[in-house]
Amino acid sequence: EQAEIGLIGLGVMGSNLALNIAEKGNKIAVFNRTQEATKKFYAEAGALQSQIIPCETLEEFVAAIRPPRPIIIMIKAGDPVDQQMELLKPYLSAGDIMIDAGNANFRDTMRRFDSLKDSPLTFIGMGVSGGEEGARHGPSIMVGGTEESWKRVEKVLTSISAKFNGDPCVAWLGNDGAGHFVKTIHNGIEYADMQMIAEIYGILRDGLKLSAPEISKVFGNWNTGRLNSYLIEITEKVLAAADPITGQPMVDVILDAAGQKGTGKWSVIEAQNLGVAATGIEAAVAGRILSSQKAERVEAEKILGLPDTLAFPAVDGVAFLKDLESALLAAKIGAYAQGFAVMAAASKEYGWHLPMPTIAKIWRAGCIIRSQFLDEITSAFTKDPDVANLIVTPAFAALVKETDGALRRVVSTAALAGLPVPALASALSYFDSYRRSRGTANLIQAQRDFFGAHGFDRVDGVDKHHGPWGSGAAIY
Ligand code: NDP
Repeated sequence: EQAEIGLIGLGVMGSNLALNIAEKGNKIAVFNRTQEATKKFYAEAGALQSQIIPCETLEEFVAAIRPPRPIIIMIKAGDPVDQQMELLKPYLSAGDIMIDAGNANFRDTMRRFDSLKDSPLTFIGMGVSGGEEGARHGPSIMVGGTEESWKRVEKVLTSISAKFNGDPCVAWLGNDGAGHFVKTIHNGIEYADMQMIAEIYGILRDGLKLSAPEISKVFGNWNTGRLNSYLIEITEKVLAAADPITGQPMVDVILDAAGQKGTGKWSVIEAQNLGVAATGIEAAVAGRILSSQKAERVEAEKILGLPDTLAFPAVDGVAFLKDLESALLAAKIGAYAQGFAVMAAASKEYGWHLPMPTIAKIWRAGCIIRSQFLDEITSAFTKDPDVANLIVTPAFAALVKETDGALRRVVSTAALAGLPVPALASALSYFDSYRRSRGTANLIQAQRDFFGAHGFDRVDGVDKHHGPWGSGAAIY
C-alpha cells in the first residue's frame, strides 16, 4: 500500500509532524538528508511503525507515495529548501505537490510557486504554528497554493490539525504566498503579545515589587478570565518554576536579552511596505533589539542612572491589578487589530482574498497565540468580514471603551515611575490617534509645503493649495 503523503526533514518539527500524520491513520513515507536520523526516527516510532515507510533514497521515497504526491518539506528555512526542491524534482511527475512547511519568507514562497508555474508540478507554502507539541498533537496550519492542490491535502491536514470545539484549525487561505504571509503576521502578533505581557510583568516586579511566585499567581488568576490564553498560561508556569541549580525563581536567573529572528522583523517590514501602522509589533521588535544590547544598557545605567522619578505611586493593590488586567486586554486588542489590518492590505496588494474570520478561527487552537479572545475576534469578523479595523466593530469598540481608561492609567503610572512600556504605550497612542478625526498632520503638510512646495489639500475642499510663505507675495 502506498503512502498518502511524504515528508522530508526529520528534525524537531518534521519528526513530530510525521508521527502526528501516522497517528491519525495516514500512511506516510519519510526521508531525511542524514540517514541515521531516519533510522532513529523509525526505531522510536513504536506502534506507529506500521503507518510509516522509512526511505533511504529520494527515488525510493517518491515511489512510495500515491500520485499526485503531496510532499512536505520541513527543513531549515532558506537556501536548503531550494536545494532540496532541486534534488527532488527529477523524481516527480505531473501533479505532484512540494509543500514547504518551514518558516519561509512569503517572498521566497511566491518565487518558488512562480518558478513551477509553467511546469506540471506545483507548490504549497504552508505555515505551521504550535512548536514541537503542536506539531505532534495538533498545530494550526495556514495553507497557500492553488485550490486544486489544497483539495489533494485537505483530508490529511484536517486530520492532523488542532481542533477548537471540533472545528479544525487548518484552512486554505489563498494563492502562492498567502499561507506563509499569514504565518508571518501570526508571529508578529505573537511578538507583540509576549512583549506586552513582559511589560506588565515589569510593572508587577519593579513597580509593585512582587516576587516571581507572587506574579505567577496574578497571571494564573487572569488566565481564568478574559485574558485566558496559552501565553498567559505558560507565563504563570514559567514564573512559578524554580532554578534547579540555585533554587531561586527560574526567571530571576535568566539573562534579559531576547533574540529576534525572521518573522517579527518581516512583519514590521511588510507592514511598512504596505503602509499600515503596526506599532505594537514594531515596539516588540524594537524592545527585543534593545534587550539584546545588554552590555550597552549596563554602561548606560552607570552613566545616566535610572530616571529620577516619583517612587511608584501608592496604588490600591486590588484596583491596580484590575487595571493591569484590563490594560493588557486593551493593548492586545490594538496589536491584533493592527495585525489584521496588515493582512487586509496584503490581501488587496497580492490578490489573495484572505478570509479574516477564517484566519481568526484557525488561530483559536494549536498555535502559540491561541486564546479565548480569538473566538471573539472570529465572531466580530464573521459579522463584518470587510470592516476597516477590528476596533470599530461593535463588540471591540465596546471593549476598547471599557478598557482604555485602565490602559491610560497603567501607561501613565509606568511613565511616572520610569518603567518602560513601549508596546502598551504604542497601543494607547494608536487608539488615541485612530479615534481622533482632527489630527496634527495639517502642520506637517504646512512644513512640507514650506520647504518643498508639496502643496496641501484644504479642509474646505477648495483645490490643492500652497501656503503664503513664499519669499514674495502670498501664493493665494
Ligand atoms: P531542526 O534543526 O530540528 O531540523 C532541521 C532539519 O533540516 C533536519 O532534518 C536537517 O537534516 C534538515 N536540513 C538542514 N539543511 C538541509 C539541507 N541543506 N538539505 C536537506 N535537509 C536539510 O529544525 P526544526 O524542525 O526546528 O525546524 C524546521 C523548520 O520548521 C524551520 O523552517 C523552522 O523555522 C520551522 N518551524 C519551527 C518551529 C519550532 O518550534 N521549532 C515552529 C514552526 C516552524 P539533517 O538531519 O540531515 O541535518
